[in-house]
Amino acid sequence: MQSWYDRLVSGYEAFRAGDYTAQKALYEQLGKQGQNPDVMLIACADSRVDPTDIFNAYPGEMFVMRNVANIVPPLDRGEGYHGTSAAIEYAINVLDVDVIVVLGHESCGGIQGCLDGLGDSEDGGYVGKWVSLLDDAKDIVVAKNTDPDKLTYEMELEGVRQSIRNLLTFPFVKQAVEEGRLKLQGAYFSVISAKLMLSNDQGEFKEIPSA
Ligand SMILES: [Zn+2]
Repeated sequence: MQSWYDRLVSGYEAFRAGDYTAQKALYEQLGKQGQNPDVMLIACADSRVDPTDIFNAYPGEMFVMRNVANIVPPLDRGEGYHGTSAAIEYAINVLDVDVIVVLGHESCGGIQGCLDGLGDSEDGGYVGKWVSLLDDAKDIVVAKNTDPDKLTYEMELEGVRQSIRNLLTFPFVKQAVEEGRLKLQGAYFSVISAKLMLSNDQGEFKEIPSA
């Protein structure tokens, strides 16, 4: 049998014996009554950055959207299949979440791809096209004459800021923010040190003290 199959089954068995046993009533209640999360979290698909781990979240607490490089595209009224935009629309119009958190992270392959010009490459594929959404953020970071050693880090932060700017291009987001029903929050996770930073209204990131 393939190792991935064994890994899936053993993980499932551990879940049934552990977390599920402790949270059985919660699962049953959520299954019968539906979800009502207060938080939408937009994170990278990267396997090292699991929002429910980082924020110690129970089932039902966070509506999580993960994609390459945690990007929110701007409003696009054109035809197409807008998966990320659909999740955001659902979170606001149906779930009525209180906050949308955009969580960037250290050593992001998608961000590096954008910096490396994958979006301009003819063979960049879906990833290249997707990360080209951050070309404006790249221009901002490059224009600041950022220290080359800090370029990726600064770009990871600017990517979060760009996604928050893009969120405000959706009329239902803008209206909810203006009416005080919704907050937009930037965040950044260091994989190496497992430390979290949150941004303020000026887009400056500050580390959250922890033990
Ligand atoms: Zn990433």
